Amino acid sequence: MNNKAIATPTRTKEILKNYGFSFKKSLGQNFLIDVNILTNIIAEAGIDDTTAAIEIGPGIGALTEQLARHADKVVAFEIDQRLLPILGETLSEYNNVHIINEDILKADVAGMIDEHFEEGQKIRVVANLPYYITTPILMKLLMDRLPVDSITVMIQKEVADRMAAEPNTKSYGSLSIAVQYYTKARVALNVPKTVFMPQPNVDSSVLHLEMREEPPVHVDDESFFFDVVKATFGQRRKTLMNNLARHFKGTLDKEEIRSRLAEVNINPQRRGESLSMDEFASLANILYK
Ligand code: SAM
Repeated sequence: MNNKAIATPTRTKEILKNYGFSFKKSLGQNFLIDVNILTNIIAEAGIDDTTAAIEIGPGIGALTEQLARHADKVVAFEIDQRLLPILGETLSEYNNVHIINEDILKADVAGMIDEHFEEGQKIRVVANLPYYITTPILMKLLMDRLPVDSITVMIQKEVADRMAAEPNTKSYGSLSIAVQYYTKARVALNVPKTVFMPQPNVDSSVLHLEMREEPPVHVDDESFFFDVVKATFGQRRKTLMNNLARHFKGTLDKEEIRSRLAEVNINPQRRGESLSMDEFASLANILYK
């Protein structure tokens, strides 16, 4: 086994030079060049030799290699065709890795899981995501209700903070509710820019999402619930009443909204950022009637 990890500055530069590879900023290509950070990601993700891992964007294989060493099997989706011959070489000694040359946003992930993984196997998504499509990728994985146990991803710090935010904080918003409806979210690590090549312009964090078996609240209609949450945060500095009245203009008047809020004990002068997930559920259910 070649013990020289891919994720070092020297080896990465050497691989890029051998293939005359130039980074595409438009594909969010910032490769990891620090093995310690990868070791931490693998630990935070809870990977062991029984795990099936899904990676999004393997690049030249820095994280894929560590997954191959620690997991049972790895399937990685990479959009950039230029990386395929490189991965063919850098990962040649691992027979438990399969690369799919596809856009993750268009891929049939459920079909891939059926084809490649054993029934009942723990499935974990682990990735250093292309930051330009962080939210679409995560929302696709969550809303498709795939049989995945957890998602551990390097993303922009500000987005990680928003996804894991608690009520009454600056970062709390509709994204926090959307993510926490499907998962238990925590920021696992904050990561310095120096572990990437090239260094990104923004700060990064590793976010860990543990899938919930059931949502934490009952909602009568999910898409109505998410619409109400979005409307409530529409203009952050406005009250609940103002944001709801604007959203339901023509359907519910202010008096009706006020009386429904009273039924669930929510003061219309509050702001969206003070509402818990439970309160959002009561609010949406009473407005849905
Ligand atoms: N995993 C590698 C690492 O940590 O060094 C590379 C991570 S880099 C931040 C993001 C990777 O995602 C790149 O390899 C890029 O080509 C790939 N990528 C970008 N958009 C993608 C998409 N829509 N589907 C699949 N892969 C994508």
